[in-house]
Amino acid sequence: MILVTGGSGLVGQHLKDVLPDAVYISSKDYNLLDYKQVKVMMDDYNPNVVIHLAARVGGLMDNMTYPVDYLEENIIMNTNVLKSCHEFGVEKVIGILSTCIYPDKVDTYPMTEKDLFNGPPTPTNFSYGFAKRTMAAHIDSYVKQYDKKWCYLIPCNLYGEYDKYEEHHSHFVSALVKKIYEADDKIELWGDGTPLRQFMYGGDLARVIKYFIDNDIVGNYNVAPDWVHSIDEIAKIGKKACMKDKIVVTYDNDKPNGQHRKDVDSSQLLKILKDFNFTTLEDGIKKVYKKYKEII
Ligand code: NAP
Repeated sequence: MILVTGGSGLVGQHLKDVLPDAVYISSKDYNLLDYKQVKVMMDDYNPNVVIHLAARVGGLMDNMTYPVDYLEENIIMNTNVLKSCHEFGVEKVIGILSTCIYPDKVDTYPMTEKDLFNGPPTPTNFSYGFAKRTMAAHIDSYVKQYDKKWCYLIPCNLYGEYDKYEEHHSHFVSALVKKIYEADDKIELWGDGTPLRQFMYGGDLARVIKYFIDNDIVGNYNVAPDWVHSIDEIAKIGKKACMKDKIVVTYDNDKPNGQHRKDVDSSQLLKILKDFNFTTLEDGIKKVYKKYKEII
């Protein structure tokens, strides 16, 4: 039986589309910050596979305003889930990290899995970064000490139809789609448009997770398409995908850019995933735009 934490989130909803028979848990079912509730959850389902998606996740401003909450909630949730998986003898655990947790700067890009601990995470999500790195160390430790078939994936920034659109919570691509939809003639973006980003459609990560489950793959891998675009290029792709090419994009230079680049190399993963094609940014944004128009 497969249990998925964070089942109500962006990734969880995409996973439901490809792995419909798993059990999907949200905070309304069990609060993962409370070990007693985590044990009740494990007792209720007795899973042999746990896909641990749940996390305190948010945008740049939320991360900068609530660093303690990001650090503590993620460390406590991850510890509770991993500890209970050990206690209940869960055979396979897949934890989800993020490329945001990689070092702020490295000598050569794209970064490989070996770079994970080679320097502090970027200051704008320092606490989230360290909490997630702790989960990597935690899973590695269980593998070492107890010979577990546990592993983690490190996806780049995500977007998808199931993203949230509230100001404090939304991710860049969803926020961009909302702005483009609402704009008559112009939109304003934070920073100066130069930061480089990899964005992956949430459904692609879901397909990778399903492949790991179906083929019983164990190992820690980056998951990201091999293209990288500046924020300004992404805005242009977004305008085209939403068929609003005429909108003018301006930049608020008083707002932070965030990390300049954090692109990663997925070649190790692609050696395993035969014939895997990532959704292009334009196609993915078209899907999000279509959905956004339906739900607003
Ligand atoms: P999301 O949409 O913010 O969803 C977070 C999920 O965690 C929700 O299901 C939420 O439940 C659950 N959760 C939060 N606190 C909880 C608690 N105390 N107890 C139980 N459940 C709790 O996140 P996402 O974007 O799907 O991200 C999934 C994973 O991918 C995370 O580990 C994240 O770090 C990683 N990731 C995300 C991105 C991205 O760009 N989104 C990029 C790289 C990696 P409720 O809905 O009930 O609150």
